[in-house]
Amino acid sequence: MENNINGKVIVITGASSGLGEAAARHLSALGATVVLGARRADRIDELAKEIQDQGGKALAMATDVTQRDQVKNLVDAAVDQFGRVDVILNNAGIMPLSPMDRLNVAEWDTMIDVNIKGVLNGIAAVLPYMKEQKSGQIINTSSVAGHKVFTGSAVYSATKYAVRALTEGLRMEVKPYNIRTTIVCPGAVQTELLEHITEADIQQANKEYVGAVGISPDSFARVVAFAISQPEDVDINEVIFRPTSQE
Ligand code: NDP
Repeated sequence: MENNINGKVIVITGASSGLGEAAARHLSALGATVVLGARRADRIDELAKEIQDQGGKALAMATDVTQRDQVKNLVDAAVDQFGRVDVILNNAGIMPLSPMDRLNVAEWDTMIDVNIKGVLNGIAAVLPYMKEQKSGQIINTSSVAGHKVFTGSAVYSATKYAVRALTEGLRMEVKPYNIRTTIVCPGAVQTELLEHITEADIQQANKEYVGAVGISPDSFARVVAFAISQPEDVDINEVIFRPTSQE
């Protein structure tokens, strides 16, 4: 394991597009076995096949992260097929931004379910295995919006602040098991994230901004690889990265 990535079994949620897909490709190229979860089975099946065709190891399983049993099934499948789980990248997330006074309350609920409960479901699924192994790494995707609130980002930011809080709490508690925890906070990256904003004016403003400054998802993949590749006694607790031109 000269890069500390080669041979690791890495579960990735939200692997069907954007940051998760880029991380899967990059980590696979560095020798990891990748276990891909997302709802769009066609996308992750295709990605797994592409990785296998290139000589890599990959497994894809349709997973809705809001369903605790489905996330458990994904992690159980990783252990059944590959013998262990070294890393989970709890990355699935949605960002239907809108000002609170528009009362898109169903979207508030969905953001809480996917962005917070989805991460908790991933943690719950891996912890028993990682405690037993006495090793592992739990990487959770937060955001620059998990450090500051923008107009229209109140609920989304609340979920991303929560990801940071629960990851920091977890970090302190899992020390006896030699488990590392990492928070990754991206700035503007070009992905499909803005497609699910239902308010036309908010979507347009964000598309203009991210279209102008957004960087490639490979940036995220490299940060994740950096955190995993450290020696096991080094835990990269949090990384914030932005486009150089982002304010
Ligand atoms: P994308 O929309 O491209 O990807 C989101 C991923 O999450 C998809 O793979 C999607 O898969 C998955 N997903 C959404 N809902 C669920 C669900 N219920 N169950 C399982 N998977 C789900 O956006 P990004 O790649 O940009 O987003 C990835 C993460 O990065 C998110 O947590 C986002 O908040 C965060 N982020 C992104 C930034 C950016 O600028 N792009 C900046 C900061 C943070 P499917 O629809 O197939 O289920």
